[in-house]
Amino acid sequence: MHSLNVDLGDRSYPIHIGNGLLARAELFAPVVSGRTVMVCTNTTVGPLYADRLNATLREAGAKAVHTVTLPDGEEYKDWPTLQRVFDALLQHHCDRKTVLVALGGGVIGDMGGFAASAFMRGIPFIQVPTTLLSQVDSSVGGKTGINHPLGKNMIGAFYQPQLVITDIATLNTLPDRELSCGLAEIIKHGAIADTAYLDVVEQNMPALLNRDAELLALVVKRSCEIKADVVSKDEREGGLRAILNFGHTFGHAIEAGMGYGQWYHGEAVGCGMVIAAELCKRMGRLSAEESARLKKVVIQARLPAMPPKLGVNKFMELMAHDKKNDAGAIKYVLLNGLGKANTSPADEALVRQTLLELGAG
Ligand code: NAD
Ligand code: MG
Repeated sequence: MHSLNVDLGDRSYPIHIGNGLLARAELFAPVVSGRTVMVCTNTTVGPLYADRLNATLREAGAKAVHTVTLPDGEEYKDWPTLQRVFDALLQHHCDRKTVLVALGGGVIGDMGGFAASAFMRGIPFIQVPTTLLSQVDSSVGGKTGINHPLGKNMIGAFYQPQLVITDIATLNTLPDRELSCGLAEIIKHGAIADTAYLDVVEQNMPALLNRDAELLALVVKRSCEIKADVVSKDEREGGLRAILNFGHTFGHAIEAGMGYGQWYHGEAVGCGMVIAAELCKRMGRLSAEESARLKKVVIQARLPAMPPKLGVNKFMELMAHDKKNDAGAIKYVLLNGLGKANTSPADEALVRQTLLELGAG
């Protein structure tokens, strides 16, 4: 088992990563012992893992364990579905001491965390992430929330869990496409912060795709460290945290332009990183070898490297609407050599030319 601490002063918390941790009562006990627990999960993950987790929570000394099972899908990351969590908490007479455990991917983690932040003005919260993406990304950093019909993740709160338990064995049931989406964020961590890590990911890609538990645990740990390091320096996204959006400016445009759900987030980010690297090459920030290498790793992870034919004008328009922009100017995350990133504007003509030559026109 690997453990790391996310260092946020009095909001610090441990992340435990390993194979079979869903059965390890002693890891849950410090937070759940003597408490009532509400497990929040969905109709896909619940049938696979809720019984095992509930038995472990009882063994860990939980007074009572209740479960609320939500419908599966990003379209249910909304107010009416969130209300079902509050309904369940109130129907079971839960109080400020109740612990909410989010068992699922990023959708359940974001909704469960937001529910925990608001119920009785905040109750303890444990993340049990079951997708590779949620294990390396959404379970670190404390962003929680839901979507609004007018925008993704528009309603939410910063709220840190007390504990994250990442059981690598849950990845054995994850669809291949979802596994690749997690790999996109992993590649991103290497590209923005650690070339030695990118080497490890590149060299072990076949084993990662094969779900080698030891390697996955190692990679989840390193990715969490990188994200935790960035987040602990900038918990509320004042500046540095923006580098975690490498590949996301182009990626968000692809997701929105194709219609949400057509390209998965990780797929759009994979392609977005290839576009961003190509732009960096043209700006003299990356060598041709570095840009080609990033593209190769993306393809190895079974992610798309070719942008969809959205049209350059449409691409530019969608990027101008990205919520991370500063007063209209598109803010790009660019690399200064692999392993170093910063935000920067870029010459519009050069961006257009890059998109056109990559086939987005
Ligand atoms: P998801 O939660 O929708 O999970 C993807 C699919 O896999 C779902 O159908 C889910 O039911 C299924 N699934 C989950 N675990 C499984 C398992 N072990 N076996 C089989 N199937 C399983 O998607 P995601 O990619 O995990 O998360 C995406 C969400 O996370 C988005 O809503 C995004 O906004 C959010 N997010 C939040 C942060 C953050 O910092 N809070 C960061 C990144 C993403
Ligand atoms: Mg992302």
